[in-house]
This record gives sequence, C-alpha cells and structure tokens, in this order.
Amino acid sequence: MPLQYTDGEFEGKKLLIVEGSLDDTVDLAPFEDPSYTYVDCEKLNRMLSVGIRKWVLTLKARPSDAPLYFVRCSVMFVEQLNVIDGFVGNSEVQSFFAPYICEDCDEEHAFLLKKDDVVDSEAPSKTCPSCSKELEFDEDEDEFFEFLED
Ligand SMILES: [Zn+2]
Repeated sequence: MPLQYTDGEFEGKKLLIVEGSLDDTVDLAPFEDPSYTYVDCEKLNRMLSVGIRKWVLTLKARPSDAPLYFVRCSVMFVEQLNVIDGFVGNSEVQSFFAPYICEDCDEEHAFLLKKDDVVDSEAPSKTCPSCSKELEFDEDEDEFFEFLED
C-alpha cells in the first residue's frame, strides 16, 4: 500500500499519521507542511531505497526552526535511523518501539520507549505480559540505541 496520511492530534499539536510503504511513488508533500509538529510512524511498514532517498531530501529541506518530532517509530524505522546518516534531518525521534523476547514463551513483544527511558544504551527492564518473567532485549543494545548518542 502506498503511503497514506491521516490527521491527528498529539499533546495539543497537529499530528501526521503515516501508514503504508515508502516506495518510488511516494508523495511526501505533507512533510513540507510547517503546520505539523508530530509524525506517528508506527505503521510505516516498508522502506525501499528510492523512497528513502526522497524522504531524506524532504526532511533535510525542512527549516531548522520547524522541526518535526517523530513518535511511535517502528523497530524498522529505528534500524534505518541507525544506518542512514541524516535520516530525519533536523528533526527528532521522541518515542519508538523496542523489541524484547520472552525466552520461556518464545514470544516477541515490542514496547514503546521514550528517549529518556534509555540510559547508557541500556534497555529498561520489561516483564512478559503472559508469564511475568523478565524479558530479554532482542537486538544488540549498543547498535539499536546508537541514534540516541547524537
Ligand atoms: Zn513469557
């Protein structure tokens, strides 16, 4: 599904909710609209290289006095953020999903974290919603939280 946009509200400001894939047909015009403050990226589910190139250029062009704050970024979004220089330009990631796994239930759980939840690249401890056992972090912590170091 090509990228679709829905308007929302977050902390009293205009929120752009994004859903679908960043492919070669992507229209990123809403990212040039200065009235948006927040972007919800939970459902941004695929990123192809042509789309990523457009995305990086669009965000780079955003004036530095009108940054966007990305919230609810998916695990995939964070992975791109860590490998692509300037992935969000002058904008900022405020909250994101982090992958955990329960070794007893063999189930994956994603938890929404805020920047401040992570200190020294250490994932905050979380417990399994099914069995209450402490979860293991399901990525390399230094790599996954690298974007927070900037
Ligand atoms: Zn469990």
